[in-house]
Amino acid sequence: NSLSKKLQQIYEGNFYAADIAGILSIERQDQIRQIFDFADNIRKQTLGDAILLRGIIEISSYCRNSCRYCGLNKNNKSLTRYRMKTEEILEAADMIYRSGIRTVVIQSGEDEDFTAVWIADIIKQIKERFAGMAVTLSLGEWPDEYYRIWREAGADRYLLKIETTDRRLYERMHPDMSYDNRIRCLDTLKRLDYQTGSGCLVGLKGQTVESLASDVMFFREFGFDMLGIGLFIPHGQTELSSSRQGSLEMTLKVQAMARILLPAAHMPATTATGSISKTDNRIDALQAGANVIMPNFTPMPYRQMYEIYPHKRCVNENPTTDFSELAQSVEKIGRHLAFTRGDALRLQ
Ligand code: SAM
Repeated sequence: NSLSKKLQQIYEGNFYAADIAGILSIERQDQIRQIFDFADNIRKQTLGDAILLRGIIEISSYCRNSCRYCGLNKNNKSLTRYRMKTEEILEAADMIYRSGIRTVVIQSGEDEDFTAVWIADIIKQIKERFAGMAVTLSLGEWPDEYYRIWREAGADRYLLKIETTDRRLYERMHPDMSYDNRIRCLDTLKRLDYQTGSGCLVGLKGQTVESLASDVMFFREFGFDMLGIGLFIPHGQTELSSSRQGSLEMTLKVQAMARILLPAAHMPATTATGSISKTDNRIDALQAGANVIMPNFTPMPYRQMYEIYPHKRCVNENPTTDFSELAQSVEKIGRHLAFTRGDALRLQ
């Protein structure tokens, strides 16, 4: 039919941004299913049925920024801030290692007390103690020099979402940041030969299908190795507290289009997607292009304090090395958990 022909053309690279916007505007349920199935099939052909696991440690909730959507924004005075100690971070990394996972993701707010040397020391210690472990950083915007020091210390990958490529929307959402600086960071990370990841937030007020289409076009032009397509969840202690939550369906459509345009990108079923209802919507994301899950290894009590958005998945549970339940639920959809490093396909 004409939709599958259109999707095939897009996959083959014959399209304009308007074609992507057109697909994102589709509302008929049978057609949406068709988009997800197409993306799922490309995921299967390109990356197979393995679901890559990445253990995440949220090392600090201090942040110098005031992103309007984020619970960590500096104006949120009701949040108790924390910064994990080196030993605590290494203990969490040890737990990731014992679970068999071979990627540690170190994430945090933009903590002004971070030094390039402290982070470099953590990277080096993880690399020394845990043979074969990949290190991904997700620490926000820093000078080029910091990124170079961390790369030289052994960091393999970096995640920095562009959030939106609509410059005016970007500047409205990030009062004390600049779009150009975000791009500067992404360019530097690529030049330093990090496996580079980005992504966007779906459901920001004022966002259009045209701007989401331009996000996906940007991902393709840049050629990211990893992409996180997040669903916006309003947080009570932010300026967007009364904004509407992003649509799960739109998030999955954007994710599916990202898969079609970047067949080899590693894409997580994001925690936000798994946090909006009792049923685990990450399973839906895994059937619409995603191939990665990021279990949380931030220890108590810190994990409750890293509240980017409310009702975050598993905030009240202790980290676990037992993935049998997750393994069972992904087996039901014909998939299996993989405990490999899961580098970018271009490097394998
Ligand atoms: N500070 C680093 C940065 O900016 O990349 C990493 C931490 S930041 C909290 C990680 C991600 O959280 C952001 O890229 C953003 O998309 C997401 N996020 C923040 N607030 C959110 C919300 N209310 N709903 C969904 N995702 C949110």
